[in-house]
Amino acid sequence: MKFMETKIRKIDKNQIDQEIIEEAGTLLKEGKLVAFPTETVYGLGADALKEEAARKTYEAKGRPSDNPLIVHIADYEDLKKIAVNIPAETDILAAHFWPGPLTMIFEKSELVPYGTTGGLDTVAVRMPVDPIAQALIRAAGGFVSAPSANTSGRPSPTTAQHVAEDLSGKIDMILDGGTVDIGLESTILDMTVTPPMILRPGAITAEMFEEVIGPVSVDETLLGDESEKAPKAPGMKYRHYAPKAKLMIVEGDLREEILAIRQLAYAAHRENRKVGIIATNETLPFYNYGIVKNIGTRENEKTIAHGLYRVLREFDEEDVEEIYSESFAAQGIGKAIMNRLEKAAGHLRIPASAVIKKQKYRTVTFVSNTDSARGPMAAELLRQYELKQEYVVNSRGIVVLFPEPANQKAEAIMKSAQMTLEKHTSRQFDSDSIQEDTLVLAIDEAQKEKVLAEYGDNGNIYTLNEFTEDDTEIPDPYGKPLAAYGECYEVLRRLVAKLADKLDSLAEEER
Ligand code: AMP
Ligand code: MG
Repeated sequence: MKFMETKIRKIDKNQIDQEIIEEAGTLLKEGKLVAFPTETVYGLGADALKEEAARKTYEAKGRPSDNPLIVHIADYEDLKKIAVNIPAETDILAAHFWPGPLTMIFEKSELVPYGTTGGLDTVAVRMPVDPIAQALIRAAGGFVSAPSANTSGRPSPTTAQHVAEDLSGKIDMILDGGTVDIGLESTILDMTVTPPMILRPGAITAEMFEEVIGPVSVDETLLGDESEKAPKAPGMKYRHYAPKAKLMIVEGDLREEILAIRQLAYAAHRENRKVGIIATNETLPFYNYGIVKNIGTRENEKTIAHGLYRVLREFDEEDVEEIYSESFAAQGIGKAIMNRLEKAAGHLRIPASAVIKKQKYRTVTFVSNTDSARGPMAAELLRQYELKQEYVVNSRGIVVLFPEPANQKAEAIMKSAQMTLEKHTSRQFDSDSIQEDTLVLAIDEAQKEKVLAEYGDNGNIYTLNEFTEDDTEIPDPYGKPLAAYGECYEVLRRLVAKLADKLDSLAEEER
């Protein structure tokens, strides 16, 4: 294929520059290729009524030519020109969902070349809501075929930069209208069967159709795992959206998923393997290892739909060998999210429960009086170790009246040992501090007694001396000069080294 210069034109959907639209429309009329924004993803536009334009589209995308294109229209009246035997429900569906992220399949008219329909006698039609798309379609004569503007097999583009990454030098123009709204391709509804059948899930869901025309069916190949049957939308059979790294979807309840991914990422870290994690706003803070990307917030699944392809593309830039993804509820737009994610993962799903390794302690909590010196020092010392298992390490106080930074002398001592308590704020020990998987280590016997008296003995409460089987007294430096903090540090350092060994041997026993 010969290299061509790809013009990039910025365009604002709230203030459309008609000159740019004319320029792009003319290119399309000449049978050339123009990528443009729609509300779903960026489309690679061509004149839908020209066989030759379809051929160029397949070539630029590297797409198998049995995978039909969706014809985009801007005026409902135009549907009648390209489709025949249009069923009666179409009007009401169009009234509800057009313009919008819905593609409907009809028997095609003579006007539509087989190049556009991948040899099928049916045609897929959509009326996008994006004003840039609408203006361009009109300027191009009314019928614009537009598959996603990516190289076949890469995640669909949600920005003009994504399009340029894939198609620069292969197409004539990119209209840069910024980031798309939805970020996943349209819902495809086959209107040639009764009741209509969803061939690809998207932002318009089965429930939404049901409210308008009653129940619809769903292509059964979308429901299960790798089905033997060929999906009815030819494009759905290809392993789309595949990131370079091996993507695995971890499934379970969210707590298990986080734990499983944490363990996988920690194991990878210890083996020097680079891995990625697809996390959400809510779960981000739980991951300490691996390259973690925020796909969106669980409070609004639309943000997750919007972030998916961006995150997959970002991971292609990182040199990670595996990506672990949390999973999402397959409800509403979640169906479309999981459909795309599963395709990207080549249906590689792993149950969190099968991954989670037995680990008696997942949290180590040091308890001191005020959580301002000895507890935080011990915690920071333990954090320096790369242990065989990952632990959340923290500290709590028996009497913390209000949150305070660490004691300044303690901080000075830690600084001289290339550590810091900068991030520390003192916190009161409470019922949350003694979970089943928390190892509670009191600095003094007195604190242990207080915890036992208040919360009872769950078998995981020790003094640091007891647990490490070393009775070197940990001096209390409070109110004493800096040197006393130094002495205390030395004792803690030795005890924590023993603690690290002990935790590792416990981990070894658990294997
Ligand atoms: P894309 O253009 O990347 O959004 O992909 C278009 C999708 O629509 C592919 O999965 C196609 O297989 C599907 N499609 C287009 N036309 C038809 C049709 N006539 N019948 C069934 N599926 C179609
Ligand atoms: Mg596509």
